[in-house]
Amino acid sequence: MGDNIRKIAILGSTGSIGRQALDVIRAFPDKLKVVALAANKNARLLEAQLKQFQPRMFCSSAKADIDYGGEFLSMEDIASHPEVDLVIVATAGKAGLSPTLAALRAGRTVALASKEVLVMAGEIVIREASLHKAQILPIDSEHSAIWQCLQGEEDKPRRLFLTASGGPFYRYSQSQLAEVTPEQALQHPVWKMGRKVTIDSGTLMNKGLEVIEAHWLFSFPFDGIEILIHPQSIVHSLVEFMDGSLKAQLSWPDMRLPIQYALSYPRRWPNPKLPYLDWNKIDSLNFEPADYNRFPCPKLAREAGKLGGTYPAVLCAADEVAVELFLNRRISFTDIAKIVQKTLDQHQNIAKPSLEEILAADAWARECATRLSLGHYKELERRSNLRLER
Ligand code: MG
Repeated sequence: MGDNIRKIAILGSTGSIGRQALDVIRAFPDKLKVVALAANKNARLLEAQLKQFQPRMFCSSAKADIDYGGEFLSMEDIASHPEVDLVIVATAGKAGLSPTLAALRAGRTVALASKEVLVMAGEIVIREASLHKAQILPIDSEHSAIWQCLQGEEDKPRRLFLTASGGPFYRYSQSQLAEVTPEQALQHPVWKMGRKVTIDSGTLMNKGLEVIEAHWLFSFPFDGIEILIHPQSIVHSLVEFMDGSLKAQLSWPDMRLPIQYALSYPRRWPNPKLPYLDWNKIDSLNFEPADYNRFPCPKLAREAGKLGGTYPAVLCAADEVAVELFLNRRISFTDIAKIVQKTLDQHQNIAKPSLEEILAADAWARECATRLSLGHYKELERRSNLRLER
């Protein structure tokens, strides 16, 4: 009987997805068991999680601050450990890359939430998964929706539609967008997420990164993946088939559902904490194609994805730098796309890169984006000085 329990490792357990994953696991004590938790610097929360879930392994960059008797291992050793059935990769940034590869090489199932893994190294990750017959299950709501729509289908779809809430500023004009403050941008109307993802959802970069992920997850051509603005976030994505039929997956926006589906797949479990959709509370569902003039980030992401090589890693890194600079009030909201674009423009691509070359491109892009925004900042100061002199 005990063998039916799925043994789970969570990398990034103190982040938004990690905490919600623990919430799901807590609801199914006879089906799911946490055997490892890994987190970065939030030692206090990790310690509380360890004491509650009692996993035999853990990892943290703040090891000295954690009082726990379990075995301390690297994220790679946890991800490939024989006692782990499924690894939830929900780390921030590129930290999930190497543990994901370790898990796949050991034949472990990976439930993937961290965008950077497939965006930066999609080609390598998918190759390793198929070489070692390891599964990658999406946790992101859009990819989970497409995955659910594809169940039982034998023929390749015609188009995939990723839905986007549009974020808080979708109706803003270009000049209004330039004035957006970090405080406004961190208030997302529908989803509760981490800071970086929240800003990315306001610029629609998030959706651009999801296009690249969808390309790798479903081995689907870029031109067949489209973005639909859907403010209510009830339809999580759609699949169009060759005969003109469309399938969509709907639910209240709650990340615990796609997390749970990755853990219960191919089964579906009732969870009293997951609300059923109440149609009395829904007035209408709206859809419209995305406007790439005001929101150029998805276009940049699609181009970087199509060019391939090290471009997507550069896109990711430049965006991370630009978002951080925006949050620190060094650049404006609309500068984020400009910094990313300029960094991509200056990049010398490497086709079929190794993991080392991807990481080198990442480091180069961070340096380049920082330099570009510094120059940009000086230019802004120079202009305001000129105005003062006049
Ligand atoms: Mg998403």
